[in-house]
Amino acid sequence: MDARLARLREEVFRRNPGESEFHQAVTEVFESLDPVVNKYPEYAEAGILSRMCEPERQIIFRVPWMDDQGQVHINRGFRVEFNSALGPYKGGLRFHPSVYLGTIKFLGFEQIFKNSLTGMPIGGAKGGSDFDPAGRSQNEVMRFCQSFMTELYRHIGEYTDVPAGDIGVGGREIGYLFGQYKRITNRYESGVLTGKGVSWGGSLVRPEATGYGAVIFTEQMLKTRGLSMDGQTVVVSGSGNVAINAIDKAQELGAKVVTASDSSGYVYDEAGIDVETLRQIKEVERGRISEYAVRRGSSVKFVPAGDGKVWDVDATVALPCATQNELNRDDAKHLINSGLVALAEGANMPCTADAIAAFQQAGVLFGPGKAANAGGVATSALEMQQNASRDAWSFEHTAERLHEIMTDIHDRCYETADEFGMPGNYVAGANIAGFVKVADAMMALGVV
Ligand code: NAP
Repeated sequence: MDARLARLREEVFRRNPGESEFHQAVTEVFESLDPVVNKYPEYAEAGILSRMCEPERQIIFRVPWMDDQGQVHINRGFRVEFNSALGPYKGGLRFHPSVYLGTIKFLGFEQIFKNSLTGMPIGGAKGGSDFDPAGRSQNEVMRFCQSFMTELYRHIGEYTDVPAGDIGVGGREIGYLFGQYKRITNRYESGVLTGKGVSWGGSLVRPEATGYGAVIFTEQMLKTRGLSMDGQTVVVSGSGNVAINAIDKAQELGAKVVTASDSSGYVYDEAGIDVETLRQIKEVERGRISEYAVRRGSSVKFVPAGDGKVWDVDATVALPCATQNELNRDDAKHLINSGLVALAEGANMPCTADAIAAFQQAGVLFGPGKAANAGGVATSALEMQQNASRDAWSFEHTAERLHEIMTDIHDRCYETADEFGMPGNYVAGANIAGFVKVADAMMALGVV
């Protein structure tokens, strides 16, 4: 790494102690930027990178709520508005007990470059809470969302900051959040949140977009080697929004997906995951993944979390779609030895740095999350367009736009990696292409 970048990275670590995921995300971007800082010294002179690593605004707030037994709970809410050079802040909300400031900052930092790559006019942000929705009743989730929005509403707006979903925040939670926003502000401001239900301002394809997009990106990577998804054996982790839709799209394109997981373990279905059964269990009943094995019968194996990982299964394509750092170097080695050809990150930063290095050394096509999972936020931007024009597009039209956007992101990453002398390195291509667009906008806007 260039000495100036290394010094700046040390400074970021010092100013943000203990935020290991944020440090990891910053390192991953900086490691790609040597050729850029050499080619464009004006960025360093204008302090562009230092400014990019410091969020424009960080909001931390108390979220009090009452459970069904009348007991009061206190959670912590976050919104980190990282960069608005390209447009209003945009990025999801995560509700998970592991959430702390470092989680939100790593996600928000990634989001700057991801949103830039989509080509849409959106800045980068992320938010959430350490609230654990698991095992909570519908009313408890609603009361929590209402309390969360009672503070958040002051900071967001269709021209300011537009949150969406992430882990633990799906259509149900967006509904409660939007309901409370509307009630407090007395405004039907559809464009303030994305991921809304279709009957009240949402976009068709938004629920499917991240998973579908990750598979479209994989298909494009495979195409560079004369391959396709057809006939691939795929391992997927997770069984939430991104995972289920990735499984669905991969199978539509002729692949066989043999795994799905949640935090309790994974299932191996040699015949290929039955998406309808999985949707019923996870989306309708909100059940555990072991139930899938019960319903599908003895041909399906359930492996509890302590006894193995999805990555123990042989595959030609891998799609990690659960959470950060879920795939390490040992997992990578097993997948490489089993004949892995391509991996696309449906989740944000699911692969550790040494796993990524192993994949790249082995010549595996590696699609980083900020490019491969950008379909979700891109379709959120399409939802904002529809809201602004009071329009509602058909499924086919929106799906076609998503396909175009993902193909364009793929091509931009591929061509940028080539241009900067790192052919086939999608990590470098995504980081550089994402960075340059934001940096140019920041240069134009002056020191703000
Ligand atoms: P989700 O619907 O809440 O599903 C998350 C899945 O991952 C669940 O199966 C969950 O299992 C599992 N999981 C979460 N934390 C885990 C942990 N610590 N250990 C093991 N399993 C864990 O969330 P999602 O929207 O699909 O998001 C998944 C990933 O995609 C995240 O990295 C998110 O940032 C990224 N992403 C999402 C979008 C989007 O549009 N939703 C867009 C871009 C990127 P349990 O239910 O057992 O916890």
